[in-house]
Amino acid sequence: MERPGDNTVQTESRTNIFDFDRASLERFFEQELGEKKFRAHQVMKWIHHRYATDFNDMTDLGKALRAKLEERAVVRPPEVIYDKASADGTHKWLLGMDPRNAIETVYIPDKGRGTLCVSSQVGCALNCGFCSTATQGFNRNLSTAEVIGQVWVAAKHLGNVPHQQRRLTNVVMMGMGEPLANFDNVVRAMSIMRDDLGYGLANKRVTLSTAGMVPQIDRLGEASDVSLAVSLHAPFDELRSELMPINRKYPIAVLMDACVRYALRRKGTSVTFEYTLMKGVNDQPEHARGLVALMRDFDRRVQMKDAAKVNLIPFNPFPGTRFERPDEAAIRGFQKKLNDAGMIAPVRRTRGDDIDAACGQLKGQVMDRTRRSATFRKQVEARAAGGQRDASA
Ligand code: SAH
Repeated sequence: MERPGDNTVQTESRTNIFDFDRASLERFFEQELGEKKFRAHQVMKWIHHRYATDFNDMTDLGKALRAKLEERAVVRPPEVIYDKASADGTHKWLLGMDPRNAIETVYIPDKGRGTLCVSSQVGCALNCGFCSTATQGFNRNLSTAEVIGQVWVAAKHLGNVPHQQRRLTNVVMMGMGEPLANFDNVVRAMSIMRDDLGYGLANKRVTLSTAGMVPQIDRLGEASDVSLAVSLHAPFDELRSELMPINRKYPIAVLMDACVRYALRRKGTSVTFEYTLMKGVNDQPEHARGLVALMRDFDRRVQMKDAAKVNLIPFNPFPGTRFERPDEAAIRGFQKKLNDAGMIAPVRRTRGDDIDAACGQLKGQVMDRTRRSATFRKQVEARAAGGQRDASA
């Protein structure tokens, strides 16, 4: 029997149902419990549509099955340590994954849609110089349960009902961590996001963002049908390698080849290229020209106009960073150069920066392995003081 999330800390011997997507839960029911597949479907609906965590509430299951489930499994969502609401409607949760680790999840409502920004790792190992997650180092991958649990917590809080009352319309794997470095757990969690028995999101509404792990981009193309976003941030190798060490392993030409393969596999869909604008670093006219050339080449190879979409992200500062956000005129000027070349390049508005929830500001909490959880709690509570809301309500 396959055990999802093997690389994570196990605190409970019973299986957490959150670790299963439809296929693996069916297997669990048939092979481990000797039950019919449709029972697995009922349980998924109870959990992801009605937010039940107690098997005894799953009234259409029958007493014997409920008792069997109780013995073998749990439905354990991440623990909400605190949640904070921003003045602009953005909402951030700090979720405890185990006594030493917590991560952040952010909900961003915007004109008829609600996007959840989900984390994939505690910390990140890629060490991009302009990202605050990098400063905390890397601790571990999140399990499938911990990835989909973020969606569950937010959806429950929002009163989301799939197919009826959709508060959560999009998920972006753009929180903490590099999702392709935690491939299996992230792909399994994304399959629950897209499943009708899960959150019922269309493929194009689930986006995975990567710093450019080339072999895994190809693997993703085989395993999944989600939208791809790539953090580009520089059109030239020398600069990109300075900003993002992964570029030394997979330089721009190699990365663009993989993006072309991904786009061609999913005909008629685009790839988004994220470009964080940093003052005096990558916001000059030659950078705009270089970016236009790369994007045009991509469109030509995919044989589709606007196959490459650029998302401009004004740099979000964090304590200790040497980078700065360009002023508004410089941001508009850079955008205009792209527009003049016929490209649509929206500027991602900064949301939730009053609660440190903007791109590149997520930090979570990683505790020194020697510290006790009581100390952890105290620190988290101190940090949360001010603007804090009771998360248990
Ligand atoms: N590791 C993945 C997922 C993170 S997504 C990736 O690199 O794509 C988060 C996005 O915000 C990435 O495009 C990242 O490069 C960008 N980002 C990181 N730090 C930032 C900052 N300080 N200001 C603005 N954007 C930032």
